[in-house]
Amino acid sequence: MEGVLERRAGFCGNKTGQRPVARQIKVFIVDLGMFKAVFPGSFDPPTLGHLNIIERASAVFDELIVVVAENKQKEYLFSADERLEMMQEIIKPCKNVTCTSWDSLVVDFLKQEGIRILIRGVRGMDDFSHEFELAMMNKALYPHIETLFISTESKYIVLRSSSIKELAAFHGDVSRMVPPVVVKALKGKFQ
Ligand code: ADP
Repeated sequence: MEGVLERRAGFCGNKTGQRPVARQIKVFIVDLGMFKAVFPGSFDPPTLGHLNIIERASAVFDELIVVVAENKQKEYLFSADERLEMMQEIIKPCKNVTCTSWDSLVVDFLKQEGIRILIRGVRGMDDFSHEFELAMMNKALYPHIETLFISTESKYIVLRSSSIKELAAFHGDVSRMVPPVVVKALKGKFQ
């Protein structure tokens, strides 16, 4: 654990071999219980934009749990099992990432797992205003949590599950927008 933390704060080292800032960061991180994080979403279907957020979050945290949300009020193209199966395939190369589905409030999942960090991705101001409200609501429900936003990389800025489904419905090429397993699943839905 020490190694991981000191690598993260490696730039803080000094000539005496002591890393006072790293140690402060360690105390801070331990205090926040920040080693694990949760990335929840509908993932209907998962896109390369989602995968990019997963890869980047997993490089920061020791463990990342992707939570495939099942909201009874929402209509999905893919069932929770189908979305989970696709996600399981996609995260295979990421050794510190696991996924599960959840059909209740996301904050209840964090409570159950004793995790305090919730990751969300943002593509721009529209996303941000929605995500900001969501973060406020989640904080009100469970004050212990912190929502951290990861901004998309520019090449993924236009990737949106809803537009990808529309494109796939018209048999458009989505192979540069979603992982191969999702290309196949979309073809299966719209053939
Ligand atoms: P929701 O969970 O709101 O139904 P999604 O499943 O589409 O939405 O997305 C889950 C999370 O991933 C959200 O925080 C969303 O803003 C983010 N996200 C979606 N697409 C991208 C993208 N292309 N780049 C970065 N983040 C994204």
